[in-house]
Amino acid sequence: MGEKYQALLHHLMEIRNVNRAEALLGWDQQVNMPPGGSKGRAAQVATLARIGHEMLTDEKTDMLLKEAQLELGDVAYDSDEASMIRVTRVDYHENTCIPSDLIAEHAEATALGHNIWKEARAKNDFAAFAPILTRILDLTRRMADYIGYQEHPYDALLGQYERGMKSSEVKRLFDEHKPPLVKLIAQINERADRVSDDVLHRDFPLDRQRQFCTDIASAIGYDFNRGRIDVATHPFAITFNQGDVRITTRYYQNFISPAIFGTMHESGHAMYEQGVSPTLEGTPLSRGASLGVHESQSRMWENFVGRSKGFWTWAYPQLQATFPESLGDVSVDAFYRAINKVGQSFIRVEADEATYNLHIMLRFELEMEMVAGNIPVEKLPDEWNQRFEAYFGIVPPTDTLGVLQDVHWSSGLIGYFATYALGNMLAAQYWQQALRTHPEIPAEIERGKFDTLLKWLNVNIHQHGRKFTPAELTKRITGESIKSSEYMKYLEAKYGEIYGL
Ligand code: ZN
Repeated sequence: MGEKYQALLHHLMEIRNVNRAEALLGWDQQVNMPPGGSKGRAAQVATLARIGHEMLTDEKTDMLLKEAQLELGDVAYDSDEASMIRVTRVDYHENTCIPSDLIAEHAEATALGHNIWKEARAKNDFAAFAPILTRILDLTRRMADYIGYQEHPYDALLGQYERGMKSSEVKRLFDEHKPPLVKLIAQINERADRVSDDVLHRDFPLDRQRQFCTDIASAIGYDFNRGRIDVATHPFAITFNQGDVRITTRYYQNFISPAIFGTMHESGHAMYEQGVSPTLEGTPLSRGASLGVHESQSRMWENFVGRSKGFWTWAYPQLQATFPESLGDVSVDAFYRAINKVGQSFIRVEADEATYNLHIMLRFELEMEMVAGNIPVEKLPDEWNQRFEAYFGIVPPTDTLGVLQDVHWSSGLIGYFATYALGNMLAAQYWQQALRTHPEIPAEIERGKFDTLLKWLNVNIHQHGRKFTPAELTKRITGESIKSSEYMKYLEAKYGEIYGL
């Protein structure tokens, strides 16, 4: 590595340091901070966001990029060096188009917004949240205009999370996915009484849940020497450096699923970041390719592994031993069926695999309209409830169970939701590919052995970090583009068996 390239890396690592310090303040806000800290913290986050943004958008970045490129000459497209320059150049251009003042204003509004949302959700008070959401939405629209777009302002926002993806492409995928999905859910609903999840709502003491979840995370490969689990309202995974990738989860005494599957989900995210090549540490490439690809990892561990019969063949005796009073009389088959019950849940994060993407389609449609300015913020609860009824046949009794449930808008994460559904589709495609290479994986999972799968993910996905776009990565792994059919096949086979379709 030449001197110029080293200088570029040094500059990028300093930017990353500022960004990760900001992230740590965000983690603390969600995990530890007393409510009184909200205003001061928002200002601190805004300052760090501004500094990070100023460092990235400084002409020095452009100069270092040009010098490093000149020094490197022709290097392979998939080398660390070429990827570093290619991806950083896109970051630089995306960020130089947004003024620092707007970035700081956005960071402050969203830090405040998070606490206002939390209280509004607790009190079922959408009116209290509406003013700050209006402000966040306005700032977001201004950012989309600065970023630029060809077809829809939403493309500018979506592209921040899913590089190279257009909303028209998402719409096409959803249009193709929706009819067979709605059909499957209708067939399941006709046989809804074949599966009960009552046993999941028995008494599960929190300290034992915590221990079980920690053991499961460790068993599947989440490295606790480089991670830890805390409690937060909305579970997330966050990276401060490759030696410190944390997750959060939540525990309910009378519902075992959120803790187990939330922990496996976030572990999937964290293992992705723990698996990035050490040669990329501290650089803009030391994270996931996109949110969709990230979600493919969390969903694979949560659902393809965590909600499979094979997994519980291994894990259920341990769970039963942990909660003998509540599960002593429940067979592994009854438990497997319970955790895979398809129902009409109001809450996205607790939705089953089959209905999950419908929750996403609702949000995607709403966001497109919000960003286009077609729905005023105060009308959102009505719009939400009407659409929810059309999709699910039920109306949320409160906004807490409806439009106020998600953390995203309060945090300025608009254009983000679609990536969850894309992640489900990608998970199915990657899973099939892993099984083609290693047909022994399902049998290994039954024995509590997960390293063949994790290693395959490390080699094919994790190590590359953010070098490739989601489309490039998917092509490299599967030889194809993103599609919904593999996910549909998976759902139809699994739920066909459970519901006897
Ligand atoms: Zn996730």
